[in-house]
Amino acid sequence: MNKLAINGGEKAVKNGLVKAWPPVDDVDAKMIMSALKGGDHQYGPNCEALCKELAAWNGNKYAIFTNSGTAALHMGLVACGLSAGDHVLVPAYSWSSSATCILHHNCIPVFVDIDFDTINIDVNKIEAAITPKTKAIIVVHLHGLAVNMDKVCEVAKRHNLAVIEDACQGVGALFHGKKVGLFGDCAAISFSQNKSLCSGEGGMFLTNNEQILKKAQQVWSFGESCTPSQSRDYHAYALGWMYRGSDLVAAFARAQLTKLDWYLETQRTNGRLLYNELKDIDGLILPTEPAGHSHTWYSFVIRLDMNKFKWNGEPERFRDMIIKALQAEGASAHIWQRFILPAMTVFQAKNAYGKGCPWSCPFTEKVTYDPSLFPAALKHQATNINLAFPLRAPNGKEAVMAVAEAYHKVFAQLDTLDADRVLGAVKVN
Ligand SMILES: *Cc1c(COP(=O)(O)O)cnc(C)c1O
Repeated sequence: MNKLAINGGEKAVKNGLVKAWPPVDDVDAKMIMSALKGGDHQYGPNCEALCKELAAWNGNKYAIFTNSGTAALHMGLVACGLSAGDHVLVPAYSWSSSATCILHHNCIPVFVDIDFDTINIDVNKIEAAITPKTKAIIVVHLHGLAVNMDKVCEVAKRHNLAVIEDACQGVGALFHGKKVGLFGDCAAISFSQNKSLCSGEGGMFLTNNEQILKKAQQVWSFGESCTPSQSRDYHAYALGWMYRGSDLVAAFARAQLTKLDWYLETQRTNGRLLYNELKDIDGLILPTEPAGHSHTWYSFVIRLDMNKFKWNGEPERFRDMIIKALQAEGASAHIWQRFILPAMTVFQAKNAYGKGCPWSCPFTEKVTYDPSLFPAALKHQATNINLAFPLRAPNGKEAVMAVAEAYHKVFAQLDTLDADRVLGAVKVN
């Protein structure tokens, strides 16, 4: 076997082999140029068309095009009727805005540990976190794997909780054959750079409920009651933001949407191939796809089984060393989140708006954010290695096999790695 690249050997993944995300072609160029020449650059005809096309693709009745996934999450909380001081359940491991969107509406995030196997919210721990203050739950279909929505919806129904799906990473994920975004009261999708459907920045609010749609529209556009394409009276009927997307961006998203099925099919094929290529490496915990779920492999997440390695130090340091060695091989491995959510400063400080708000709100009850209450999230955080782009279209077998070779090389030659030499005092990201 060749010497590791980090020790001066040749890279397993040659420069230029893994193609950049997202693929763009004449379809994107034509649609964006046509929007450019159309002259309607604010919320325009491409935005309206995108809403219809995406709603049809996902099977939702209604869609609202936003300037981010975070905006769509915030709209969901308002539209579901939450008010200041209400508690909202959210997994302890996700993107920051899965939880900060709760603060945006003066509500209080209450974290629930993840299930180590699926990396999604532990559906068996939801009920214990519910109090009379709890009004909603945000589930996150992380890494392209749907949450077990049977269990979530059953608990939510029994406790009268609204269900908001953070489907920002979950586009196209299926649970019992049904797409995410169809289970809860509403859902949010993101179109930011790395997402399965990319328009640079942007997002979508999805719902099947007309009342929820109307409230979300108010938040979305200055608190006005009608959409910008209808006649406006420029009156703020309620507290609103400016969350509208623009026409050029919508044109890009529409072009990408024509390729989304191909993207997802490619990810699924590549994900299965990578799984098979890596399954015999001792010490790797490969991602699971439980019965009834169809993973999109938006991100392929491996954890290190620390019991299998001769390592006495911090697991993070071992993991970081492995990542450096994989990166040197050109395998684009990375850590997606270095902190679990409750450990993030915004929650530890409990002072989002100053004067302790919203935690000092007279309508709420005290919560604690001790990270040690979330052992599965902490263990995941310390041992995970993420991989995304080699699995994305137009990459295929060649890129996947090269990445697999990088993993085989590194794990076969662990004895040639030295953490102090590889990492020094600097942390990788
Ligand atoms: C990307 C992402 C978001 C935020 O989407 P933006 O469009 O960047 O606002 C929220 N939740 C999850 C899980 C994400 O991955």
